[in-house]
Amino acid sequence: ETIGARLEAIAALHGDREALVDVPTGRRWTYRRLDEAVDRLATGLLNLGIQKGERVGIWAPNVAEWVLVQYATAKIGAILVTINPAYQASELAYVLRQSGVRTLIAAAGHKKSDYVTMIEHVRGELAELRDVVILGTGDWDRLAGQAPDRGTLAARAAGLDRDDAINIQYTSGTTGFPKGATLSHHNILNNGFLVTEVQRFTEQDRLCVQVPFYHCFGMVMGNLGSMAHGCSVVIPAPSFDAEASLRAIAQERCTALYGVPTMYIAILDHPDFRDYDLSSLRTGIMSGSPCPVEVMKRVIGSMHMDEITISYGMTETAPVSTHTPVDSTIERRVSTVGIVHPHVEIKIVAPETGVTVGLGQTGELCVRGYLVMRGYWNDPDRTAEVIDEAGWMHTGDLATMDEEGYVRIVGRLKDMVIRGGENIYPREVEEFLYSHPDIADVQVVGVPDPKYGEELCAWIRLRPGSEPLTPEMLREFCGGRLAHYKIPRYVHLTDEFPMTVTGKIRKGAMREISVSALG
Ligand code: ATP
Ligand code: MG
Repeated sequence: ETIGARLEAIAALHGDREALVDVPTGRRWTYRRLDEAVDRLATGLLNLGIQKGERVGIWAPNVAEWVLVQYATAKIGAILVTINPAYQASELAYVLRQSGVRTLIAAAGHKKSDYVTMIEHVRGELAELRDVVILGTGDWDRLAGQAPDRGTLAARAAGLDRDDAINIQYTSGTTGFPKGATLSHHNILNNGFLVTEVQRFTEQDRLCVQVPFYHCFGMVMGNLGSMAHGCSVVIPAPSFDAEASLRAIAQERCTALYGVPTMYIAILDHPDFRDYDLSSLRTGIMSGSPCPVEVMKRVIGSMHMDEITISYGMTETAPVSTHTPVDSTIERRVSTVGIVHPHVEIKIVAPETGVTVGLGQTGELCVRGYLVMRGYWNDPDRTAEVIDEAGWMHTGDLATMDEEGYVRIVGRLKDMVIRGGENIYPREVEEFLYSHPDIADVQVVGVPDPKYGEELCAWIRLRPGSEPLTPEMLREFCGGRLAHYKIPRYVHLTDEFPMTVTGKIRKGAMREISVSALG
């Protein structure tokens, strides 16, 4: 099934149910009206001459138009390139050029960033970029307001296949330059459907999507996952705002909420938290990074989200491949990423040999099934590095599995340090160092060493007022409590860590800085 066909089927089945609510502007669409609005916009895109497989970029925060563009491009078989609203001009130019975007639909700007000026600035360098349409202008109204040409749309739909590429999403760029994961209807529609299926969504559910649409979490797990079951998507704000989320949940009686751990923390700590009635909530997802146990207890206790699930995934696998079942214990929901998702295969292999490791042993997590991307856009070499001949996607994440199939993420393969033949997982050392009273935040990386191959360097952010920590003081603190080879040899005191625009820590950059600082 294609995404467009699914939307039409849902509109026929649940036409009067609410599909989309844009809380900041008060606009609402039923599935019937959504499908009509999508057909108008799809007709506008056809009239621009966009062919199947051509790239259309969307550069906007979470607004209702984003969703219309998502479905309209799917209906005409154009490949939607989803662009991070936090990008600046050089990052924008990189993704537009790399994916060969022909038509760009963009907001006028977001959070003090003037998109129109940035687009004008880079436009001259982009030979393939033909049309730019800014939301809220007459150009947009004309594009989105055309009389639906149902005959031409049906003819286009007849030529589409579920395995066609439909979306290019750039990875976060945590370990290097962002890579354009190319995903099909089949990849993302099914992943969205199954993600909400394991949370027992029905057409009665109302999902508050506070995570960005440009990423799989929003557009696949949120938008497609809701549409596939005929549920409502509620947009609380263009970008995350704890108070707006609280208001939207209470006002719209949302039953589910998606977020990364820091969003849940911001909501729980909001001074007006108690003023909002969150009793309609039932479930939701927390993903992206590990969740502290206290936060999970409060989400379940004070936000009524008894059935909240943790999921693990990556852009290249559309995204989800493991989840905690709704009845998992709290301990499992904080210390594991759950069990394998339906219709997916996983295995954990020794990185050096590719042989599957035993239960409880650490290796690289590999994923196979309908969800694996078609490849990195225009990059067969890098694709071949991660997807092997048997179809396994090598995630680059280190993991273990217990007797009941629960998976734990231990760190990233690229961050693993080999010192004198011993494998060291920086996450383990970091977790230990957090117990030091003066350490507010810590990240551990490997740096080259002539004798041991690699040595550890700890980047440390101290609590205000603490005295500077030296390698000797650290050694004394760790002595007798951490194996000697895991004790960092170098200490780098810092006020901040290099971050990606999506808020992940860039260990590669830290390694380079440490190496040059050591001479
Ligand atoms: P790049 O591939 O460009 O270096 P990235 O891998 O951070 O960036 P994404 O595809 O957005 O880009 O993120 C996927 C990664 O996020 C996973 O490979 C994993 O390392 C991490 N991750 C996802 N979910 C979880 C989770 N529940 N717990 C811990 N880590 C997670
Ligand atoms: Mg990655």
